[in-house]
Amino acid sequence: MTKYIVIGAGWLGIRTVRAIESISKDSVITVLEVGSKDYIDINVATPRFMVEPDMIDTAYQPLSKAWGRAELINVKEIKGVESGRVVLIDSNGNEQVLEADGIIVATGAVQSSPLIKDVQGKSKDERKAEFTAFRDAVKNSKAGVLVIGGGTTGVELVAEIATDFGNVKCTLVNKPRLLMNGSSKRPAMHKIVMKQLCGLGVKVVTDDYIEDLKEDYVGEPKKFTTKKGVEIDADVVVVCVGGHPNVPFPADYAVDEKSKGLSVNEAMLCEKLGTDATKPVWAVGDCTMYGGRGMFADPQIKALSASIMHFEKMGTVEGGPMKYKHKPSELLPSLVSVGRRGGAITIPVPNKMLGKALKSKDLGLSYMYKKEFSVKV
Ligand SMILES: Cc1cc2nc3c(=O)[nH]c(=O)nc-3n(C[C@H](O)[C@H](O)[C@H](O)COP(=O)(O)OP(=O)(O)OC[C@H]3O[C@@H](n4cnc5c(N)ncnc54)[C@H](O)[C@@H]3O)c2cc1C
Repeated sequence: MTKYIVIGAGWLGIRTVRAIESISKDSVITVLEVGSKDYIDINVATPRFMVEPDMIDTAYQPLSKAWGRAELINVKEIKGVESGRVVLIDSNGNEQVLEADGIIVATGAVQSSPLIKDVQGKSKDERKAEFTAFRDAVKNSKAGVLVIGGGTTGVELVAEIATDFGNVKCTLVNKPRLLMNGSSKRPAMHKIVMKQLCGLGVKVVTDDYIEDLKEDYVGEPKKFTTKKGVEIDADVVVVCVGGHPNVPFPADYAVDEKSKGLSVNEAMLCEKLGTDATKPVWAVGDCTMYGGRGMFADPQIKALSASIMHFEKMGTVEGGPMKYKHKPSELLPSLVSVGRRGGAITIPVPNKMLGKALKSKDLGLSYMYKKEFSVKV
């Protein structure tokens, strides 16, 4: 009987638990989640939740539906991870040491806006209250809404707001010249998305930025001035400029210098955290040096599963398979919604219709939950 600890029950954490459950029928799996989070939250539909908070009643399904026998433990903090042990502060504030044969870190990323991405493990009710307060602020906005960042998240959010609140002035400011930075076929995607945003009445300012605007804001109307002198009035601001890997315990020696994510090899092994090959530590998803998108789940879980299978058989990860070959985001197809009536996708050719059909209705949630976790929503 092998004991595993999975830290983080987001997209990749859940996929990890499901993989272990199918590889090792008698393994014991403990899942550590921060705060009081006990529901599936893969972020994909967050921009829609921000204008339609009731949707989380359908979307935030209990984690227990996504796996069979794993046990979920909510914790306050992870203090340290090394071969064979996790040091944590439990929900009562006491330090505890949990031992395991294998540990998998899947703690995701921290986004610039805490509304877009919660890393504190808020409860379903707390998240709903946050989204409702945001929606009400948008609804009552006098000066307008300003979204900073024209990547997928910023585009999706501003389009949701402009679709549902046509009388609220919306502005999107993007530092690069083209929207959808990081998408494949970017010039074509920029064109398709720009046309739809303009059709929704969004004022799009590209190749420009607002210095020192790093945090969300809701309050009295303010005037913001871009570097090139464009003046924008807003009383609601959301900063969607990406983020960084979430490694919530001291691990400087184990992170990749450039990305600041956990360094992993082609077996998703983080050998600097797990120095003993008979007590391995793996890392998957956004907390690794690869970051990126849930789309990376399939190849990462495949590589992780191959390594775990070897470990189950041999009692060590030494000499195990090295299967992961990273493909950067720009080389994978891109899909974005532009409110509930629009979208864009890069395959078979950059176009609106298929993007809209695949994503705009429920932001792809029912498809992804079914495919990734066998959960019906
Ligand atoms: C708004 C938005 C839309 C997106 N849309 C898409 C899309 O359409 N397609 C796509 O492929 N990707 C999309 N992504 C990216 C995708 O959501 C991520 O790549 C994916 O969720 C990464 O999975 P993960 O498990 O690494 O991290 P997460 O899903 O973020 O999970 C991390 C988990 O770790 C937990 N955690 C954090 N800190 C601790 C701690 N100290 N202790 C224990 N647990 C902790 C968190 O609570 C969370 O549950 C989107 C992201 C955002 C923000």
